[in-house]
This record gives sequence, C-alpha cells and structure tokens, in this order.
Amino acid sequence: MTGVRVGIVGAGIIGASCALTLARQGHQVFLLEPETPGGPHAASHGNGGWISPASIIPMATPGLWKKIPGYLLDPMGPLTLRPTSLPHLFPWLWQFVRAGSTVQRVRNTTTALHQLLQDAPERHREMAQWADATHLLHHQGLLYAYPDRHAFAQEAQSWQWRREHGLNWIELEGDALHAQAPALHPDYRLGVWVPSAAWCSDPGQYVQHLVAAAQRHGARLIRTTVHRLRLQQGRCDGVDTSQGSLALDQVLIASGIRSRHFAQQAGDRLPMASERGYHVVLPHAALELPVPVMPSDGRMANTPMTSGLRLAGQVELAHPDAPPNWARADVLLGHARRCYPALQDPERCRDAARWMGHRPSTPDGLPVIGPSPRHNGLWYACGHGHVGLAAAARTGLLMAEFLRGQRDSAVLTPWQIFGLERFER
Ligand SMILES: Cc1cc2nc3c(=O)[nH]c(=O)nc-3n(C[C@H](O)[C@H](O)[C@H](O)COP(=O)(O)OP(=O)(O)OC[C@H]3O[C@@H](n4cnc5c(N)ncnc54)[C@H](O)[C@@H]3O)c2cc1C
Repeated sequence: MTGVRVGIVGAGIIGASCALTLARQGHQVFLLEPETPGGPHAASHGNGGWISPASIIPMATPGLWKKIPGYLLDPMGPLTLRPTSLPHLFPWLWQFVRAGSTVQRVRNTTTALHQLLQDAPERHREMAQWADATHLLHHQGLLYAYPDRHAFAQEAQSWQWRREHGLNWIELEGDALHAQAPALHPDYRLGVWVPSAAWCSDPGQYVQHLVAAAQRHGARLIRTTVHRLRLQQGRCDGVDTSQGSLALDQVLIASGIRSRHFAQQAGDRLPMASERGYHVVLPHAALELPVPVMPSDGRMANTPMTSGLRLAGQVELAHPDAPPNWARADVLLGHARRCYPALQDPERCRDAARWMGHRPSTPDGLPVIGPSPRHNGLWYACGHGHVGLAAAARTGLLMAEFLRGQRDSAVLTPWQIFGLERFER
C-alpha cells in the first residue's frame, strides 16, 4: 500500500516522525495541526530531551498502591494526584496500579519498551539526517547520579531489568563522576553513565525540522483543527476539520492527550490520562554539565539545551483542563539548587521560564501503535507517556510497515503488543 492519502491528526513529535517516514515512502501525507508544530502547547516542546534505551521502567511497579494515600497527602512529592480529579481518574488509576501489580507484569512492560527503545539513538540519528537536524542530537550518553551505593541499591531491581535486556553502563565513583559532571554537588558519589544514550537540545525545533523535511518530500501541512472522523460502515474515509471535509484513504490519530476524543468517536477503548509534567529553563545557569543528569532523589532530567539548562520532571495526575500548579515547577528549581551549588547564585537563576505539558499516558505504560479494532482505515500512534521523544522514530517506522501490510517486522511483534485490542481483552 503506497501512494495512499494518509491524514495525520497532530504534528507533535509522533505525528511529525510518522509524516516524514510515510512521505519518504511515497505516501500522500496530510499533516493536520492547528498550532505551530512543536510549539509550547505540545508535550513535544517541553520534554527533557532524553533518548534513552534505559527508559524501559514503567511508573507502576509492585507496591505502588500502598503509596497512593501518601501521594494524595503530599502535594509536592514526585508523583501527585489532585484529589478533585480522583473521580475522573479512578478507572485509569485502577488499571495503572494493576499493570504494575506483579513482577511478571512489569517485566512484560520492560520487554515491550526495550523492543521500542533499544536502538532509539540510532533511529533518531537516521531520522535527523533525513531532516538536516543532526546538530540538535548529541550522542555522548546520559548520566544517573546517586548519593551513594545504598541509594543505587534501592533501584537495583530496575537496573537488573535493564541488564537483562542487554543495556551496558559504566559506574563512576567519586572523582570520576565529578570529572564527568563538574557542576554536581560533592554529596553525589556514584554515577551510572549510559554511553549508548543520546539527547536532543531543542525538542520543539526538532519537530519543526521533521515537519519541514516531510514537506520537502511532498507532505502538506494544513493548519486546521480536526473535529470529527468520517466513519461509515466500519470504515474511516476522512475527517471533518475547521476548514471543511477532507477525504482520505487512511487516518492516523497522533494528537497526544487529545487522541482519546477521536477513539471515543470511533467507539474504541483508549484509556488515557494526562501525567502532567513541568519544566524550568535557566538561560543563565552556565553550569559545567557536558551531559544531561538525572539525580536519583529529584527524579528530573537536567538537560543542557540551546535555550539554557532545562529541569524537566514531576508527575501530576490531574484533569487535562485543570490549571497548572506552578508550585510544582518551583519544586524542580529548589531541587536543582541543592544539586548544583553554583545555582545558589541568584544571577544564574535569572529569567527562569516555566512550562507545563501533558504526557499522553496509558495505564500500562505502553503506547498505542496500530489499527482501530472497529474501523478500517483508522490508526493510532499515541499514548507514548514518558518516552514519546525516544520512541518517535521507531513509531514512524512501525506505521510505515503497517501501511505496507507488514504486521510483524523482523525484530518486533508489535501488532499484538502495542495494539488497542489489549484494552478489550
Ligand atoms: C516534563 C516532561 C518531560 C518529558 N521528558 C521526556 C524525555 O526526556 N524523553 C522522552 O522520550 N519523552 C519525554 N516526555 C514525554 C514526551 O514529551 C511525550 O511522550 C511526547 O511529546 C508526546 O508526543 P505527541 O506527538 O504524542 O503529543 P504532543 O506533542 O502533545 O502533540 C500532539 C499534537 O496534536 C495536536 N492536536 C490535538 N488535537 C488536535 C485536533 N483536534 N486536530 C489537529 N491536531 C490536534 C496538538 O496541537 C499537538 O500539536 C516528557 C514529557 C514531559 C511533560
């Protein structure tokens, strides 16, 4: 199936990656997006920039349910739940806790995410070459920092799962850690450096480069809001937009947190919640931090970006339309000041910019990549949660395989793993 008219709803990192990959393969691509692709409205704008084969550990792990009352009570913890959003979130939360309830379930999730992320830096390198965007990607690895071996041992199970999937890392003790990240507080004595990982120093710009490259391959970017799917007799044959109706052979939903709206129209079961995250960018931080760092106690990505040092993290489960709680961004800044002594200087924290975005998250921690169970011609590529940037290039390749009619590639059996049917079993 080549040369078909494919409409992609949403030009975040997922829609943009799919658009470029499909346009290169000769499809007629229509990218439908009301905003500037990669702009601050999208999760793809403000993320931590990590492209890591190590990002295979889901949020839900055994014993999580015991911690939920504490999360409700501590509004500033790394994971919080707005009590007012509880009725709206309850069904999702139930499935979320269940997905992490046994070691076997978590192991299945890590295996699936490993299949998606194992070669993420290489796939992005290739995609960035197509888009003249290699200057935005950096392949010097990523660093996890711990105060000591005891703190590292608390996460031994996660690292064991990573090792089982063949991930290699280098442990840096004391001075070796500080040689790698001179700005870190001396209290951090153990580093875990994942040399195969990469990062993006401007995720929003990266999306724009991908979209521009897709356009060079013939894709059309139409600045419009998609309101409805055109559905009849088990088939989706187009969309109704704010600029009128568009006839299409295939429709791909890549609208981030808004994807659920279209699944509802199609009668498909797509459980999705917003795991809201925040960032603070410090344009004048000027830290000696040649690679991004994740301090174990702060659970945030500290990434050198073109705009400054970005502190990205926090998980806040709340209704997508609830207003931001900027105190959560302040938590990130407070923690960074403890991690990097140089940030005690107020001058380095001047002009800090704050942002909030929605991780489009499924309860089982896996994206949805595959067809609608009910309508021919309707596809989903959404729900990438914490790993949407990292998984984007592979998602585009999978969608291209699906549209070619190849259900199972040599390395993956994705149809069963990532398909929407899993929520209907
Ligand atoms: C704080 C934070 C840190 C993160 N860090 C990382 C990280 O380090 N590494 C990583 O891999 N991931 C990270 N993520 C996750 C990652 O950012 C997301 O998984 C990813 O951006 C999701 O991309 P998307 O294209 O699905 O959604 P989005 O980027 O939200 O794009 C969806 C697009 O759909 C459009 N749209 C919506 N409705 C319609 C409609 N009706 N018609 C047309 N278009 C529509 C929107 O305007 C938007 O442009 C992080 C997320 C957050 C919040």
